[in-house]
Amino acid sequence: MRFTPSVLSSLEGRFRVVKAPERGGDPAAQRDPAVVATVSEMLSTIERQGMDAVLHYARQLDRYDGGLVELDRAAIDASGARLDRTLREAIELGAERTAAFARAQRNCLQDFETELVPGIVTGHRYIPVGRVGAYLPAGRFPLTASAFMTVNVAKIAGVPSVTACTPPQSDGLANAAVLYAAAISGVDRAFLLGGVQALAAMAFGLLEEEPADMIVGAGNAYVAEAKRQLFGRVAIDLLAGPSEVAVIADGSADPELVAADLLGQAEHGPDSPAALVTTDAGLASAVSAEVDRQLETLSTRDICGPAWRHYGSITVAQDRQTAVALMDDLAPEHLEVLTSEDEWYHDNLRNYGSLFLGTWSTVAYSDKGMAGTNHVLPTAGGAKHSAGLSVSRFLKPLTYQRVAKGATHLLADAVDVISASEGMSAHQATATLRIARLQEMPSTD
Ligand code: NAD
Repeated sequence: MRFTPSVLSSLEGRFRVVKAPERGGDPAAQRDPAVVATVSEMLSTIERQGMDAVLHYARQLDRYDGGLVELDRAAIDASGARLDRTLREAIELGAERTAAFARAQRNCLQDFETELVPGIVTGHRYIPVGRVGAYLPAGRFPLTASAFMTVNVAKIAGVPSVTACTPPQSDGLANAAVLYAAAISGVDRAFLLGGVQALAAMAFGLLEEEPADMIVGAGNAYVAEAKRQLFGRVAIDLLAGPSEVAVIADGSADPELVAADLLGQAEHGPDSPAALVTTDAGLASAVSAEVDRQLETLSTRDICGPAWRHYGSITVAQDRQTAVALMDDLAPEHLEVLTSEDEWYHDNLRNYGSLFLGTWSTVAYSDKGMAGTNHVLPTAGGAKHSAGLSVSRFLKPLTYQRVAKGATHLLADAVDVISASEGMSAHQATATLRIARLQEMPSTD
């Protein structure tokens, strides 16, 4: 998450960078060439050598030597019993909220049919994707809510087959909370497999008789890059890589909460960026001091500290218009607005994965499923062109047309002319043959 040089120069004199990220390459490049090369090598090896290569990478990267393990139905269904009751209930609450939001979104997607001109009836019907492979990240932390966002939402869309993969923990088992979340989300099959090898196995059809039609889910930079490289062979949801947070705040914001929310996402990994853009120089200094203070006692400071040092930034904008221009350039995955004019920002911001309006909304509420919105969101500037995962991504709005005999000339005459001009005589014939048939038919007058 870095500002693009052209935007910085167009805003020159209207902002001041108080803390710049120490690392991060050209924002237009978006990808680390070393990660691109590693993933490319892994995918081509897996494609050539199949399951042997999958298991080789599981041994090498996850120190897992247990072979290919499909989690059996009884183990999936019993996973809840291994959890503390309060955790189980919290997971159930997250699943319910995510499902409620996805159902509400589903209800906004309507099949339709319209008679464009007399005799030409067109429409679309939403048909679910057939086979989805869902990646449930669990490398550094078991991200319990991921199954709600992928498996549960796919099921609400009506996807008949959802297979999940999640990496083995250090004890060689799947995380019980991740598994329980997948179980109550309605997963059909689940495998103990992580990272690039899991995505490749789903996309190349190494786990089941058929490959997945679409692979979905968030993950680290390797996971995001694997999805990018597999796109085309299978569909993907979007590129949802290392988590990002950005905050727009004015002088009314509470610096302790702003700092906590920045670190709350930096905790995802040492490569997770966090950016503050503020219209108040005093708040900038207060947040900077608060971040340092909170880092002293955070149990995950070894992750949050490097993330903030390397990828954290604070920028003071001259006015709210500049703050919006800067933020639209960053296009962060998560964006919090903590100001006395939240609705003005809501009306003017254009690029973000998901927006959190006001002091009482924080990213973790969505991350853990409690706000109901999907947490699989575009990173690395993807919010400039894409939205996060939602029920609509699993549904194909398939169009159709039904043309009445009497409407033939309304289409065929123009198709005849255009096809002739293109030199596409076979296309032309499909139209002219119909015109001829029509002329051969007895008149009904
Ligand atoms: P993960 O499950 O994504 O990745 C773990 C896997 O990475 C391992 O199984 C291993 O096979 C693979 N791996 C590790 N090092 C590798 C290497 N050097 N080469 C090739 N493969 C390697 O778990 P994680 O690492 O904890 O990452 C989770 C990520 O998901 C975080 O970066 C978090 O920010 C992100 N996330 C993003 C979103 C979003 O919507 N954008 C949402 C939630 C989480």
